[in-house]
Amino acid sequence: MSSSDADPRRDFVRAIVADDVSAGKHGGRVQTRFPPEPNGYLHVGHAKSICLNFGIAQEFGGQCNLRFDDTNPEKESEEYVRSILEDVRWLGFQWSGLFYASDYFERLYGFAVKLIEDGKAFVDECSADEIRRMRGTLTQPGQGSPWRDRPVAENLDLFRRMRAGEFPDGSIVLRAKIDMASPNLNLRDPVLYRIRRAHHHRTGDAWCIYPTYDYAHGQSDAIEEVTHSICTLEFENHRPLYEWFLREIGLFPSRQIEFARLNLTYTVMSKRKLLQLVQSRVVSGWDDPRMPTIRGLRRRGYTPEALRAFCAEIGVSKFESVIDHVRLENALREDLNKRAPRRMAVLRPLKVVIENWPAGHVEWLDAVNNPEDPSAGTRKVPFAGELYLERDDFQEDPPKKFFRLAPGREVRLRWAYFITCTGVVKNAEGQIDELRCTYDPATKGGDSPDGRKVKATLHWVSAPHALTAEVRLYDHLFGVEFPEQGTDDFTTNLNPSSLEIVRDAKLEPSLAEAEIGVGYQFERQGYFCLDSGDADPRAKRFVFNRSVSLKDSWAKAQKGEG
Ligand code: ATP
Ligand code: MG
Repeated sequence: MSSSDADPRRDFVRAIVADDVSAGKHGGRVQTRFPPEPNGYLHVGHAKSICLNFGIAQEFGGQCNLRFDDTNPEKESEEYVRSILEDVRWLGFQWSGLFYASDYFERLYGFAVKLIEDGKAFVDECSADEIRRMRGTLTQPGQGSPWRDRPVAENLDLFRRMRAGEFPDGSIVLRAKIDMASPNLNLRDPVLYRIRRAHHHRTGDAWCIYPTYDYAHGQSDAIEEVTHSICTLEFENHRPLYEWFLREIGLFPSRQIEFARLNLTYTVMSKRKLLQLVQSRVVSGWDDPRMPTIRGLRRRGYTPEALRAFCAEIGVSKFESVIDHVRLENALREDLNKRAPRRMAVLRPLKVVIENWPAGHVEWLDAVNNPEDPSAGTRKVPFAGELYLERDDFQEDPPKKFFRLAPGREVRLRWAYFITCTGVVKNAEGQIDELRCTYDPATKGGDSPDGRKVKATLHWVSAPHALTAEVRLYDHLFGVEFPEQGTDDFTTNLNPSSLEIVRDAKLEPSLAEAEIGVGYQFERQGYFCLDSGDADPRAKRFVFNRSVSLKDSWAKAQKGEG
């Protein structure tokens, strides 16, 4: 395919696909699949696989299936299936075929019968422990099972009775007969079927034997005539087995290609570990905004565009690496900087009274919605005699490099006026309760006709018009870059201050119309969105999540600039 030949960002997977297409393999047809096991919610690692599989299908005019690898009934559920369907769609992809490995149970069983008939599989009565012990090691060959040379007729009979439920769980298994001396342990007579009386979320109690992942996966690919079966690197040394099954059963020759999985700093990514966090209530659920799940990122304020851009930016390679979390955040900043409307919100309010403001007067000032996007227009923000400023933006006794508000000093209020601080009102404990200021009517809109300069422009919110909100400020879920390193228990590395709740933030009134999940830039603070779980704007319950700060405060702190 010449168009992608020209793409300098083409990775090795796309190069393989392009070569196969130009060689006319499978008539130039490209069929991929995304094959999640419905045993948890999808995470950003899955997003990488989704973007790769669906992306390749799109680029090469092919198709991508969504296939549930549902061969472990105890851990799987309909809830997970539903969430995966939603998350793939939310990311912006539409599958051609929707399949379940469990749809193929009858055919997979038939393939196993064929292997038995051909003398390539046998029923083994050894226990799981014995099988493990006889498997050998990387340096020592394994030992064949004493049941390895059971006659075909006996194997067929036993396998049929396994299915019929005549044997207890785990008592016997069906194994392939390959090579107990193979240097590749996966080829040492791998198990194909085990007996497990487990209720399956789709097939119910129809089966008491279930195929192993290795046995089910490749055959499911072949049934769907998947041309390129893209998986993560840990399956590289399963590839000879994958190919053995397809060849010996005589199925469509799907091609397995392995790439390095996504790892991110400051988080863990396996569904098993994420489930542990959910079950131990370290997080509020799979969609906790600190989770690396697609649900969590979405609730946090991530957009499908940002996640897709991130996946494109990190690329695909054959080498394991850990991606800096900052790159995920930057993808969101870049996306929201272009399109998020700007708003004013004061997280830690300090009341200001403008002494020379005409009593009862309210002005509605023009504020630009997005300086990066003129088509976003303007909105009106109210200005009355009382407003809120950020506590941090005032110091009674300012140090040298503090240029914001202080007694006697003049600053600009964004979109409004210059104000000068004339006094401080304190409570009985000596804490500052309120500021007194005057404004200069000639500076309306934020410029002084006499060319007077001020060193700071502050965001503010009109006190009588403000919405009160809860704002949730998130930090990394883990306090260290590599939570799994040097410990048996990654939860010891949790960051105790990964969530800070600000309960009395003041927002400009236009935010009453904020839609759940839509990103806003709170000027000088970062990007925020209305929480999908706990906000209820109609009941005046405003809960905003900080999606990402404006700048990468971590990198700055590490360089000593924070
Ligand atoms: P987990 O350990 O998180 O459960 P998994 O690989 O067992 O991951 P599956 O549901 O089997 O999860 O994965 C579906 C697809 O997503 C597979 O093709 C898998 O290789 C891919 N995938 C899973 N995790 C990652 C990751 N971190 N980076 C890239 N691809 C991934
Ligand atoms: Mg898995």
